[in-house]
Amino acid sequence: MADLEPLKAGQRYRCKGCGALTRFDVVKTTRTKSFYHFTIGGALNEEDVEVLAEAIETVTCRWCGHGKDIEVIDALEETETPTQ
Ligand SMILES: [Zn+2]
Repeated sequence: MADLEPLKAGQRYRCKGCGALTRFDVVKTTRTKSFYHFTIGGALNEEDVEVLAEAIETVTCRWCGHGKDIEVIDALEETETPTQ
């Protein structure tokens, strides 16, 4: 399967096999930098997570069970306007 780029804002996946738009299993590798902030008691708060690199390995359609026909499409109609 061809490598897929990480989704940009306003994009979504679509399965060309069955037309599914909503449910995918995504395996990705993410390299992050973060600030580990421990309390005196030892509880960890992970803060300021910064994504340094992200690579999509596989995208699998939940309905078909394979990822042979996954495409990236624009999903501008799905953009939600924040309600003020
Ligand atoms: Zn499908």
